[in-house]
Amino acid sequence: MATTSFTKKSLGLEANEPAVTPPPPTTANTTFVKKPKLASQSKKREIPEGLWTKCPKCSTMVFDKELDENLKVCTRCQYHFPIGARERIHSLVETCTFEELDAQMTSVDILKFTGAASYTSKLEKYEKSTGLKDAIITGICKIGPHRAALGVMDFKFLGGSMGSVVGEKLTRLIERATEKELPLIIISTSGGARMYEGMFSLMQMAKTCGALAYHAVAKLPYISVLTDPTMAGVMASYASVGDLIIAEPGAKIGFAGPRVIKDTAQAELPPGFQTAEFLLDHGLIDAIVSRKEMKQSLAEYLDYMTAGRKLAANGG
Ligand SMILES: [Zn+2]
Repeated sequence: MATTSFTKKSLGLEANEPAVTPPPPTTANTTFVKKPKLASQSKKREIPEGLWTKCPKCSTMVFDKELDENLKVCTRCQYHFPIGARERIHSLVETCTFEELDAQMTSVDILKFTGAASYTSKLEKYEKSTGLKDAIITGICKIGPHRAALGVMDFKFLGGSMGSVVGEKLTRLIERATEKELPLIIISTSGGARMYEGMFSLMQMAKTCGALAYHAVAKLPYISVLTDPTMAGVMASYASVGDLIIAEPGAKIGFAGPRVIKDTAQAELPPGFQTAEFLLDHGLIDAIVSRKEMKQSLAEYLDYMTAGRKLAANGG
């Protein structure tokens, strides 16, 4: 008969069947065998890697979602994790009010710099990894009721180094603020001038400060916000000439690194040297403001700093 020729035995499947095909899920045994497997899988899903971050200050494992909701501040010890420029802008400005300026400006390898890697390849690498064109985003926004010019640096792009693009974008932002009579806020995080651009990056120090001088002559307020770390050429130029200079808790702020200073001065450095708290005690900065209070504080500072101007405009 035709049907008998299609048995499993005749097709050579009988011997393999138990190993290849699982038994039908009808017996109590099958259910019992399956359960532990599912349980172990779901346990793994509960704590997958990459969802927790260890706080470098208090060693607590913080749930990433919780960290994001807390603006990347440790819920236990208030350590301020680094935060990207876009995240920071999102945390500060009123929704949908940020109009970015010079978004497409990119650096040119003017010196044809080559070291372990060429400057061009570094730029490509960081553009890809950060989604940024350079180490700063600038734009006009609203903080509370105030329209303001805002520049925010990002340490993830080549250590937040200040090259021609950072200098030029900032200078244009400051000039725009002067022209439109807007207060200015610059949030810095930087290792200093960008060595790949040599003297061209050092020239940005004078250029940005020159533009800031015109902004000051127009009696417009400038708030400089220092975040961890703000060092070297950036601290030695626009970051340290704010009408108001504020910092995030624990931020490392300085010009040369502590080892260089220790070797030059041939003296032990005091505890807490180059921290925001130390610099507040010694008068270099005016206030320390936590990230969660930054938006509200900036709005309040702008209230005070623009009050006289508003009064004059109203003929008071
Ligand atoms: Zn912590």
